[in-house]
Amino acid sequence: MSIQCLVYAECKDGRLRRVALEALGAARRIAEDGAVHALVAGADSAALAEAAAEFAACGADVVHVVDDPALRSGAPEAVQAAIAAAIEAAAPDVVLLGHTALGREVAPRVAAAIGAGHAADVTAIEHSSDGGIVFARPLYAGKAVERLRIVPGAPWVVSVRPNNLPPAETQPGGAPGAVKALPYRAPKLWTTVHSVVRRTTGAVDLAEADVIVSGGRGVRSANGFAPLQQLASVLGGAVGASRGACDAGYCDYALQIGQTGKVVTPQLYIACGISGAIQHLAGMSGSRVIVAVNKDADAPIFGVADYGIIGDLFEIVPLLTDEFRRML
Ligand SMILES: Cc1cc2nc3c(=O)[nH]c(=O)nc-3n(C[C@H](O)[C@H](O)[C@H](O)COP(=O)(O)OP(=O)(O)OC[C@H]3O[C@@H](n4cnc5c(N)ncnc54)[C@H](O)[C@@H]3O)c2cc1C
Repeated sequence: MSIQCLVYAECKDGRLRRVALEALGAARRIAEDGAVHALVAGADSAALAEAAAEFAACGADVVHVVDDPALRSGAPEAVQAAIAAAIEAAAPDVVLLGHTALGREVAPRVAAAIGAGHAADVTAIEHSSDGGIVFARPLYAGKAVERLRIVPGAPWVVSVRPNNLPPAETQPGGAPGAVKALPYRAPKLWTTVHSVVRRTTGAVDLAEADVIVSGGRGVRSANGFAPLQQLASVLGGAVGASRGACDAGYCDYALQIGQTGKVVTPQLYIACGISGAIQHLAGMSGSRVIVAVNKDADAPIFGVADYGIIGDLFEIVPLLTDEFRRML
């Protein structure tokens, strides 16, 4: 079967986001014999060239590059116009992009503009025996999974949840795909970004982190997050939080994980002083391995944890940090 795919290769701070490579990996599997096109769009020529080369080396047959000042701020309408130009050039059956803040804004716009179906927040993709493709996406805060079967013939726009699908990797010995400049007419921009203020406690992006150390109301204060930050830093991970901790003012809402916060799926999630309310579980229960540290043996978090440590987080977390420091 041959399905044409187009992947929007989202960059952040001049570097490809890992979810872009995950979308490329998905496109390669969907396409089978079909071509995989990609779009790299921005306003920093050197960064674009690097991202395009990486995508071309990782399995994209053609990488279209749009280099235009209108894309400097990442305004959704500018990105949408770049994707529209790439759709015109590649005529894809399926357009894939990351289910990031930008992807969530752009994907429905693109789908509406081209009259395509839209599968959002996809966590698994497989071929069906009748030649269709099945996209799985969690619903109702993870309590149900919707499986959308599409048959090639009408276009689809698919956003993939970060950290769920295997990323494309460099093809050893394979010839890299072609890189081409794509003509682009900047649309009228309705928004102007004057500055970007990042609210984060670490260098690792929470949405794409392999390891997350999360704190709840049990950390008791903003300073109580310090041992969690040390553990996260030893493990090369990010710090997250429950809404309880955010509401108490111990940390910024940018760290909130859960139904009304970020949905994360790291390899390792360490929940410290978090009770495990259903709204928190909605954001982290897809994590590969869950470790809970809580002094209440009956805390609901132990119901989803692979490993549970009953004890005071202010004793346990430094012990874990020392032990990992010795091991790593
Ligand atoms: C509409 C709605 C949306 C919501 N969305 C979210 C969301 O997105 N994310 C979210 O997290 N919540 C969300 N909530 C809130 C959620 O219901 C809980 O109130 C919240 O998750 C509780 O946070 P917590 O576990 O940190 O606090 P608590 O429930 O107060 O738990 C604190 C835990 O810390 C333990 N503890 C205390 N001291 C220590 C110590 N020294 N060592 C070890 N353990 C200790 C306690 O035993 C307890 O289990 C939402 C609620 C509603 C109604």
